Amino acid sequence: MAGYFAVPGRGEYTHAFGGSTWRIVAPAGVTPLPTLIMSLDLRDPRLGLTRRVGVLPVCARLDGENLERQFYSFDEQKRTVAFEGPPWNVDVDPLDALPNPLPECWLDLRPVVSTEEMREEMPRNLIPDTFSGGGGFLRVSEPEWIEGPEPVECLGCGRHCEFAACVGSEEYTAPSGIVSASQSFFVGELATYYFCCFDCSRMVVVAQGT
Ligand SMILES: [Zn+2]
Repeated sequence: MAGYFAVPGRGEYTHAFGGSTWRIVAPAGVTPLPTLIMSLDLRDPRLGLTRRVGVLPVCARLDGENLERQFYSFDEQKRTVAFEGPPWNVDVDPLDALPNPLPECWLDLRPVVSTEEMREEMPRNLIPDTFSGGGGFLRVSEPEWIEGPEPVECLGCGRHCEFAACVGSEEYTAPSGIVSASQSFFVGELATYYFCCFDCSRMVVVAQGT
């Protein structure tokens, strides 16, 4: 079992890429604002999560400058995602900046097959390809760690968080079309990992680079 890629398409569940169905709240003066990357339909058992009702917002800063952990809480009733400070201010080249909100499309899940898995002996400079080859930069159920597993505890209750998703980059020069025909989903040579605590409605975003 190696998890699932989230790929464009409409399946039984209403997973989505991008859009603005959640309002992002961040400390005053923050630039750029974090972005909604995916909304995951928690009814889908393939996610492997303990909560099976509602929607989970997968959000992060996409300025590519940040390898620190990010923390946010979400409120499903109000459809808000609130990021914690301290505030940041990062200059992003307008040519490289991803649209915020990202264009919206449905996502379906497809199993990761064994030839798409990262193997121990792979040189590190090949690792980003495992997130981009064949549109595999969005992944759920099982993380594909670049630097190895990290323990992730909830800031609210201190318990272990559940893995929800990991997000890599498309190849810079090979857009799949999910963002646009001319721009790929490229956030640098890094991947972000999303961990949730449903008791506290909190998320921890872990970043690892190559
Ligand atoms: Zn918690």
